[in-house]
Amino acid sequence: MRFSQLRGQRLSTLVAMEFLVCQNCAFVDEDSERMRKGYPCPVCEAPSVGGFPYFPSSIRDVLDMMQSAFHRGLTTPPFVDSTVGTPTQTADGSRLATIIYFSTLSDLLLEHFLREIASARDVTSPVVEYLLRETPYTRGRIEKLFPLLTQTKFGKAVSLVSNRTQRDYATIVTLAKDTNAKRNDLLHAGDKWAIAAGLPEECIDRSPELFELFASLHNEFVHPIYYNSLTPYLRLPDE
Ligand SMILES: [Zn+2]
Repeated sequence: MRFSQLRGQRLSTLVAMEFLVCQNCAFVDEDSERMRKGYPCPVCEAPSVGGFPYFPSSIRDVLDMMQSAFHRGLTTPPFVDSTVGTPTQTADGSRLATIIYFSTLSDLLLEHFLREIASARDVTSPVVEYLLRETPYTRGRIEKLFPLLTQTKFGKAVSLVSNRTQRDYATIVTLAKDTNAKRNDLLHAGDKWAIAAGLPEECIDRSPELFELFASLHNEFVHPIYYNSLTPYLRLPDE
């Protein structure tokens, strides 16, 4: 299915909501049986205490906002009042918004991962907030915070999870990086023409891969810490 053609259903219900996390060992997968109380986790055998979506609602909301921004450009009737805008401007606005949301989505997923690994490593909240505040940009978070908290360079981690899951995550990382650069071109230089035709569609269609990548990174680096400790993962639902 091409997600860019999906209508009448929120993308988050098909993509992000599917990922559930074991409240004991923190393994993340798309096993919907986890919703059933008492269901033994296939990884650690602890009985399920109910289905806990791994990705927070704030991230799922951004996914849905990206979807509606994308469709707004396709469905909004052409403006007739030239002081309000033209159909072309509407479509441009929708394309730009889609890129900005996609870029925001990848930033939020990275930050969520960094918070998860920091928490698993018992880094206290004030220290986590300090680290994030001192490293506000994506590049620094990837090049400094990620290796600091995982003891692995980001590129190496992507190869690791690609091999383990038999998926090629290098291409979605490249798309996120390119989109981030384009968003920066837009924000800092006002270069809205930097966005190639078809890029907004690609962002929508490939957004599930971002979620799969970060779920895999979680399983590679965060899950083993809980699996090998007596402390259960235990996250309260955020909604
Ligand atoms: Zn488990």
